[in-house]
Amino acid sequence: MRVGVTGYAHEVNGFASPVTRAHGIEASRTHGGLAATWEAGPAIATLVAAGVEPVDLPVWEFGASGPLDGDDFRALVAEVDDALVAAGPLDAVLVLGHGAGRTTDDLDPDATFLRAVRRRVGPVPVVVVLDFHANVTPAMCASVDGVVGYRTNPHVDIAERVADAAAMVVHLLGGGRTSVVAQQVPMVLPQIAQLTASHEPFGEVMLLAEQALRPPMRNVSVFGGFSLADVACQGASVCVTVDRGDEAAAIGVVRTLAAALWSRRDRYRLHATPLDEAIAVAARAAGGDGPPVLLADVADNPGGGAPATSTHVLRALLDAGVTDAVLGLQCDRRVVDQAWAAGVGTRICITFNRDDPSPLAPELTVDAEVLALVDAPLVPSRGVYVGARRHPGRCAALRIGGVDVGVSSAPVQVADPDTLEHAGLRPAAARVTVVKSRGHFRAGFAHLFADDRIVEVGAPGVATPELHTLPWRHLRRPVFPLDDVEWDPTIAPEVHRA
Ligand SMILES: [Zn+2]
Repeated sequence: MRVGVTGYAHEVNGFASPVTRAHGIEASRTHGGLAATWEAGPAIATLVAAGVEPVDLPVWEFGASGPLDGDDFRALVAEVDDALVAAGPLDAVLVLGHGAGRTTDDLDPDATFLRAVRRRVGPVPVVVVLDFHANVTPAMCASVDGVVGYRTNPHVDIAERVADAAAMVVHLLGGGRTSVVAQQVPMVLPQIAQLTASHEPFGEVMLLAEQALRPPMRNVSVFGGFSLADVACQGASVCVTVDRGDEAAAIGVVRTLAAALWSRRDRYRLHATPLDEAIAVAARAAGGDGPPVLLADVADNPGGGAPATSTHVLRALLDAGVTDAVLGLQCDRRVVDQAWAAGVGTRICITFNRDDPSPLAPELTVDAEVLALVDAPLVPSRGVYVGARRHPGRCAALRIGGVDVGVSSAPVQVADPDTLEHAGLRPAAARVTVVKSRGHFRAGFAHLFADDRIVEVGAPGVATPELHTLPWRHLRRPVFPLDDVEWDPTIAPEVHRA
């Protein structure tokens, strides 16, 4: 048996600037092929252990950013199609997806990709694994035999889920047949409302999903959705893969979980802490009040497609005279180059965002001391990116007033202390730690900050949780919490028999 492994993974912030294919990485061409990658490795190992031959096909990964150029996406799909032809007859295909894509002219490229795969391989099993933040559409479900979603946010179960998806492929190769039963819930929640810790509303629903996972259910997934994509079909959803013939049982599970999501709508945390209040908390901590605090600049999270160039939080810290603070990673290649030219120990005058100032990323001119210069690989030792190779490019650590700032050449979400240390900062010694991250930092910093010492800052930014402030164009309305919505979670879900 031969199983093709391909993929297209992109989390698109529809309010961020478009990107090209050069923004992505084709994982099958990295050293060691897919087996050596942290995203695909567990799936490849599962297939091999079952006596199945994996066939490496292109796997495109774009992380989070603005929409992909439409022509570049079509070229990518054509390349995958060519690779499927060249691979010869396949017995199944595993797709490493994400489910929150968008291009400059396609609002559902995940469906486009899956449809192209299905059209090429015909009626063999096709299983897709999706990020917890997938905006699952009927067109995506219609092209596959199985859907497997991450169950955690922060995503600490990616390896287990891609292995689950490979195990589902093996099950289907043994003659199993499945249907996919799915329901979109008219609810677009800011990313800060979608944490899956057991006391969070989403955590409670996830627990119900796990309890429902037993035959004939082959997978039970609940998706938070990516709230910044600005696509028509966007938001929370439930998706169950069930043995063919047992769709009625799956419909019951989907209805129960959709109702559980919907009934908790008064409990989702929909707003961040206003900037001035957050800075006041930081000032008190810097003054010795209580344990250290962590401020999350959630609106400038590169993991949500933001460029990590906002200066609002840094300026507010400096204006308030907050000391003993570290902040990262501020992305500004020009500032990094200037620091490298000046050298460690020098004092320089820098201007953040000199090349491209905007209301979300204003210029900020300050004096800085160069503390450290770094140009090395980054491989975090804990959190959601443990073991992964990350690419901040050349970095510099700068002392600006009482704030030590890690500056990178490329936008990278700070999801662990390693990333701050990598840039030359010493977070262990700080009273205030500021990270440009929405929620993935919670896994990497869990040993340092209790929930009550974490502040999600409501500063301006392209990844803002304040959804009512965004200029929506494509999102289907009405939707909670932007509109008053009457919705009956017992309405019939869609049943897809690929
Ligand atoms: Zn995600």
